[in-house]
Amino acid sequence: MQERVAEPAGQRNGQGGQKELEEQVLRTGLCTGCGACVNLCPYQAIYQDRTVLLHPCDLAQGRCYDFCPRTPTDRDALRRNFQEAADCTPELGAVKGFFITRAADGNLRCRAQHGGSVTALMALALREGLIDAAVLVEEGEGLLPRSVTVTDPNEAGERGRSRLVVSPTVAEFNRIVRGDAAKIGVVATPCQAIAFAKMRALPLSESNAGIEKLRLVVGLFCGWALSWRKLAPLLKKKTDIARVIGMDIPPSRYHTLEVYTSGETIRVSLDEIDPCVREACRSCDDMTAEFSDLSVGSARLPEGWETARGWNQVIVRTKQGMDLLELARRRGVLEFREAPPGNLEKLKAASLGKKRAAERFFGRDVADEETTQAG
Ligand SMILES: Cc1cc2nc3c(=O)[nH]c(=O)nc-3n(C[C@H](O)[C@H](O)[C@H](O)COP(=O)(O)OP(=O)(O)OC[C@H]3O[C@@H](n4cnc5c(N)ncnc54)[C@H](O)[C@@H]3O)c2cc1C
Ligand code: SF4
Ligand code: SF4
Repeated sequence: MQERVAEPAGQRNGQGGQKELEEQVLRTGLCTGCGACVNLCPYQAIYQDRTVLLHPCDLAQGRCYDFCPRTPTDRDALRRNFQEAADCTPELGAVKGFFITRAADGNLRCRAQHGGSVTALMALALREGLIDAAVLVEEGEGLLPRSVTVTDPNEAGERGRSRLVVSPTVAEFNRIVRGDAAKIGVVATPCQAIAFAKMRALPLSESNAGIEKLRLVVGLFCGWALSWRKLAPLLKKKTDIARVIGMDIPPSRYHTLEVYTSGETIRVSLDEIDPCVREACRSCDDMTAEFSDLSVGSARLPEGWETARGWNQVIVRTKQGMDLLELARRRGVLEFREAPPGNLEKLKAASLGKKRAAERFFGRDVADEETTQAG
């Protein structure tokens, strides 16, 4: 059984270098594959969906450790950095606004995971010059995704859909930040958004990472991601994985992963998928990308899943996120509909459920909770 370390969330920022990163994160199964420790120096790299050490480094303090979302992190300090205290909720982090949206462009929606809001917003930000480069994720060979940079708004439309295997988006940011792009936007899972927030929190003189170029973080809701090394062999038994064009997880009552090929939809029970969940995701406490400018997930609507899957729920967290959403409204890029009563409360409950599961994983607070209930 793997050794586990104390849950980083809520602790003061820790200090360490590559040695501590290896001991506390890589060897303990906490690595999310976010890529934040890669492309800073030549000593760490991504191999398939794993983060590997290529060469030992004996620095006592390193940016790899500082930026990693799984090293001790003072989340409250991060929130104070770029979110308003009045917006903060215990369940979802900052909520400046909650919306149901979808891309107005039907063609874009056809190539999107749900309502296409993420792609529409990234394309709009590129078109309006709010950013000049966007780090997105595209399908790679054999279901292994890759993080790529696009500068043309039309190219953003070609990178819609969710790859449920982690892609090292922060490593791609670390790569391009040394290049010509002056204003960079990213689409990030919650763990990646934490890494970006940690980078932003360090004084520029210390981080020296060009983090001031990061202008927009669009977060994705994330229940869990899948391990490529486990998923690919499983799906090979069911289909030709070269034909897979997408995957989705419908609401929990369906208890399935849907795998789409050009000709059919294969439904795999989540019982079979569960062993493929990335180890780090079992201890992750952020479901809604709390450290983004706005975050986007699938919608829940009274008409049922077939309608809801064509829409998104959007949580706006910062003024910048709100400005972008309002620009999208004015330009007619997004369509809005009223959020059904109770949707935000259901999201809060689901998010709290993930936080509780993470606490149970680390054996924290649960004893107190049980004592209280028993009393
Ligand atoms: C691993 C994972 C788990 C998720 N779990 C949930 C969940 O439990 N509940 C929920 O409501 N939503 C979840 N989502 C988000 C959901 O799948 C959609 O991305 C979201 O609803 C936005 O839909 P859209 O139509 O606007 O996206 P689109 O317009 O299709 O755009 C999707 C964007 O995501 C980027 N992307 C694709 N794969 C990745 C990746 N692996 N890492 C980073 N960026 C990526 C693409 O480049 C694209 O920009 C998850 C997403 C991922 C990647
Ligand atoms: S920074 Fe990201 S990729 Fe590197 S060890 Fe931490 S979680 Fe893993
Ligand atoms: S569940 Fe958490 S650790 Fe896993 S990919 Fe999603 S945000 Fe990252």
